[in-house]
Amino acid sequence: MRSFVFSLRTPRVVFGRGTVAQLPDEVAALGKQRPFLVAGERHAVALPGAVGRFTDVVQHTPVEAGDRAAEAANATGADCVVSVGGGSATGLGKAIAARLGLPQIAVPTTYAGSEVTAVLGETADGVKTTRRAAEILPATVVYDVDLTLGLPVALSVTSGINALAHAVEALYAPDANPAVDALAVEAIRKLAAGLRGIARRPDAVEARAAALEGAWLAGLALGNVRMGLHHELCHLLGGTYGLPHSATHTVLLPHAMAIRDGELRRVADALGAPDPAAGVYDLITELGGPTSLRELGLAEADLAVAGHPEVLGPAWAGRRPAGTPDFHWLTDEVVASFAKAPDPRLRELMTGLVVHLHRFANDHDLRQDEWEKAIDFLTRTGQISDAKRQEFVLLSDTLGVSSMVDLLTNSRTPDTTPSAVLGPFYVPGPPEAEHGDDLGAGLPGTPLWVDVAVTDLDGTAVADAVVDVWQSNKDGFYDVQLKDLEGPSLRARFHSDAEGRVRFWTILPSEYPIPGDGPVGQLLAAAGRHPYRAPHLHFLITAAGHKRLVTQLFVDGGAYLDSDTVFGVKDDLIVDFAPQEGPTPDGRTVEGEWRRVDYTFRLATV
Ligand code: NAD
Repeated sequence: MRSFVFSLRTPRVVFGRGTVAQLPDEVAALGKQRPFLVAGERHAVALPGAVGRFTDVVQHTPVEAGDRAAEAANATGADCVVSVGGGSATGLGKAIAARLGLPQIAVPTTYAGSEVTAVLGETADGVKTTRRAAEILPATVVYDVDLTLGLPVALSVTSGINALAHAVEALYAPDANPAVDALAVEAIRKLAAGLRGIARRPDAVEARAAALEGAWLAGLALGNVRMGLHHELCHLLGGTYGLPHSATHTVLLPHAMAIRDGELRRVADALGAPDPAAGVYDLITELGGPTSLRELGLAEADLAVAGHPEVLGPAWAGRRPAGTPDFHWLTDEVVASFAKAPDPRLRELMTGLVVHLHRFANDHDLRQDEWEKAIDFLTRTGQISDAKRQEFVLLSDTLGVSSMVDLLTNSRTPDTTPSAVLGPFYVPGPPEAEHGDDLGAGLPGTPLWVDVAVTDLDGTAVADAVVDVWQSNKDGFYDVQLKDLEGPSLRARFHSDAEGRVRFWTILPSEYPIPGDGPVGQLLAAAGRHPYRAPHLHFLITAAGHKRLVTQLFVDGGAYLDSDTVFGVKDDLIVDFAPQEGPTPDGRTVEGEWRRVDYTFRLATV
């Protein structure tokens, strides 16, 4: 569980095409009249009423440039700043806003995302220092998709991956929360789709809009949490060696991701890739982006100064992060081989099984020897199974699959008695028994009087229901496990009487370990799991016109109720096996303590 305190810090956002025409209205909406424009020569934006313009926009916001720009703005008596351009123009606008306390309207033309963060990174003497302050956050952001149509593909890719890095870091930020997670995941989806579209057709408006929306969401996500190692390293390399900002992000991101342990699954899911770090690397190569610090001009000797060799070493060389290669084509081929199965349910189940099995192998980089071990395990599970021993059921039980299928099948009828797994010890066609019989005759154990009724959901007795009962002996063994035992023991078939009732004697069931001499027992031992089942009686009830009920009654207060090894215990099935002394319901003489259990099974009609 995460604890968090959250309030979204966001500027007002105007998004669309041609929205730059709304700048005068946005200036007026802030109650201002004297905007100062920060825009490089490239961005010829007409801003009526502008009192001045600063065009010397440079990367990494040198402190000296910020000072000059602020002086220029101050000299004009400006009452707000309007920046138009990439992260560098936005940064310079922030530098002015922070120095003069003026509100800023940012018009981004790249995917840097700076426009929605309260962070300013400034460089002095080769060191980039970032600071965060409320007055640094622009008041308004005007996204105009038209201004991005001419951003070259190479810059679009690196800038877009810069935005992707914001989203990725937001996902593993120590102060992340579900709202930030949602922003980040959606940002990754939009950025990947948008960038792929731009690589195909740079002036595709929808792709541009998707990338810009993604950049906005990614910036918003990171702007509301703390930054991590990836941004730290990018700032270090950018400030110290003057490496281009977005290209550095692009190269480093997969490697910063690769050292994180399994927590970026959502990135992989959003990208539709098996491995998050390798997935981002593959996206960058697909888009033609840079993959090594070497190609950005960093000397290998400089790596030692920067530290973090586990990230920077492979990033310098441009190695694809370890991770599994993308073998989707194989999954697709196998899925396609089931596409013509005449039975649609078979097709659906086999497709799902193949997809999940492939994904499992891929996600865990399954090795040949491990798979062979698994095959050997399944082979032994089959070999030890016969008419009396069902190791596959035991496997299904101990993996919780039996309970999962049981829940899916039976949880949709909440008014009926809850079901529980059949287990591996049911033997069809148990011996017929009469009411009042003693299944435990001659066996050691505490005598138990069982008085159960079978009814409809409205309480009407169900007569002539077939009630199969089976259980373990005092030592926890079922008859089928005892090699020297002839014939069935502690199992029987009753027929409910006119009142729907079944009454008989048996012995109190005890907790027991599931068989430990087969592959399933060995698996539990290897996993350090105990093999015990909580004490219970099994029932399988069938009646004409009713749904079959397979269930178990657990002894209240019994051992392992909270850690049953087959995950079969349900609260409604924990019942009082009440201790008794003295006279018995059928007049039988019992020395010392005996127990009784009373229960009504509610069956659904078909
Ligand atoms: P940039 O602003 O330096 O722009 C890169 C180049 O692209 C420039 O030559 C620019 O003129 C050109 N360009 C921009 N928009 C264009 C367009 N639409 N068409 C054609 N050319 C265009 O680079 P950037 O990657 O956008 O921003 C990098 C800077 O932003 C760095 O200083 C970085 O520290 C800062 N930044 C800050 C934050 C933050 O939250 N504080 C976030 C991201 C980036």
